Amino acid sequence: MSFATPTALPSAKAAEGRRHFGQFSLRRRVLLSQMPLTLSVALIVVAVAVFHPHIMMDSPYFLGGVGGVALLTVLAGVAPWDRFPPVVYWVIPLLDFVAIAPMWASARHGLDGMVMLSAFPVFWLAWSGIYPVIGVVLAFVGSAAVTWWPYLPGTPTFAEGLLEYDLHRPVVVPFIMLALAVAASVLTRSMDRQRRDLGAALESFETQNRLLQAVVETSDVGILVVDGDGHDVLMNQAQRRTHFIGLPPGREDGAEHELLLFEADGVTPIPAEERPVTQALQGKDYRGRIIAIGTDGAQQHLSVSASSMHDQEGTFDGTVVVFQNVTDLMDAIQTRERFVAEVSHEFRTPLTSIIGYLDVALEEDLDPLVRKFLTTSQRNAERLLGLVTSLLDTAANSSKVTVQEVNLARLVRNSAESVAVQATKAGLSLQADLPERMDAKADPVKMGQVVDNLLSNAIKYTPAGGSITVSLRQLEGVGGVDGSGEWAELVVRDTGFGMTEAEREKLFTNFYRTEHVRKAAIPGTGLGLAITQGFVRAHGGEILVASEKDVGSTFTVRIPLCGPDA
Ligand code: ADP
Repeated sequence: MSFATPTALPSAKAAEGRRHFGQFSLRRRVLLSQMPLTLSVALIVVAVAVFHPHIMMDSPYFLGGVGGVALLTVLAGVAPWDRFPPVVYWVIPLLDFVAIAPMWASARHGLDGMVMLSAFPVFWLAWSGIYPVIGVVLAFVGSAAVTWWPYLPGTPTFAEGLLEYDLHRPVVVPFIMLALAVAASVLTRSMDRQRRDLGAALESFETQNRLLQAVVETSDVGILVVDGDGHDVLMNQAQRRTHFIGLPPGREDGAEHELLLFEADGVTPIPAEERPVTQALQGKDYRGRIIAIGTDGAQQHLSVSASSMHDQEGTFDGTVVVFQNVTDLMDAIQTRERFVAEVSHEFRTPLTSIIGYLDVALEEDLDPLVRKFLTTSQRNAERLLGLVTSLLDTAANSSKVTVQEVNLARLVRNSAESVAVQATKAGLSLQADLPERMDAKADPVKMGQVVDNLLSNAIKYTPAGGSITVSLRQLEGVGGVDGSGEWAELVVRDTGFGMTEAEREKLFTNFYRTEHVRKAAIPGTGLGLAITQGFVRAHGGEILVASEKDVGSTFTVRIPLCGPDA
């Protein structure tokens, strides 16, 4: 697949093939319409010359008719029909009847079916669709005149005595010709209608196509459509611009697999099998995957989404990949994080000093009122320090973990025991379902923070009378991030406020707190879950949330037992 080929939307024009009969000049169409009769007459001339040469010798009418058809063919081919109203060319089929009549009259005893020659002008008149009714009537009259001409007294081919026994013989022929003319006329009218309908449908398709093309081309979002065989079907202008950003330095063009693509950190190259388009071509659907494209100052961040298409049998039929440039947003997030980190850092030193001096001051013999004021100040300063530490934790590189052998079961039990009093005070029941022992390679401090945070959230966000359960179990090969190895699964379930789906999606964003919690003024920073997620990921694990408003929430953490790097 070439990623660089500019591609337009498929146009209906591409479906146009060779020119068809209706697109030829009128002169060419008249000549082509006359040709079947001309070729048939040529065949008859050969047959008569071989089997009935006397007809040729004796009958000037036969040769006259042949000459007439030949002349009409020449006229059909040379007359400037386009300059006259279309109906004028009817003169050719009408004169064809005049030429056929003497041929049929003189050769009818020699060759069967000669009268069928009038089917050509009949068909032509009825098929032309100019004046359908007049065409059918003329076709009937013309074919009747040809058929009965030899039987009319006074004509050169009339023989005495014929009338009595021969006149009934051709009686059905004009009516068969009439039926043929009606059938041809009906058919041509229905085809005309179909052609008009098709034309209108094609025009509306073209209009929609142009509209879609304009929308796609003016969109700021890069759009790439690839078919089931991996060929580009469409790439809009925004995507072509993005493509050039990703080309290796000094290159002016290149295929998709040559583009410089990195993970969201901007430095880790994306392995071939994990590149966005490769994954989309494997039929994977995803939304909002953040990647970086290009290097140095020109690097841009993209949010990529893919949606696969399937045919009626459900077979993969291609994919639509959308690239949204989120560089400004990423810069803003980074700036915010840097700002938070710097400000918190600057706060920490004076705060530590305030707390230290308050400690010293509280050791003195103080007036009870002053002691009360200082104790309150100390409590608030400590709270402020806790907040600042959380902010620093978020900004700090939470992806660094120091692993060691940890008994996860004991770690969770300790956490549960330390919050038990708090839960009882809040009127909640806390149950733990833990194995005796579960050894894992993990960072005990960070995993302890993960469990503490989930438990303290469950307590904070569950009203009195509710219940909380914490469980730990071992998963074998299933359910882990890559579905292999052994995994620990920690589940914290509560019967608390729960949250809506929209709230759940924003849960791991820094400073995010649900509306209900904010209104209820329950203390918190909105940083705990962002930090928790960072710690879990640093262990090579994942954190999942299931929640229903006013019913409760379930947080599930899975980490590999053998540590993040195994
Ligand atoms: P904090 O608890 O300090 O506000 P968190 O990041 O831990 O920060 O949580 C973010 C938000 O997620 C909370 O403010 C709350 O709105 C919601 N939340 C977290 N845990 C739960 C829970 N168990 N039940 C309901 N809402 C929760």
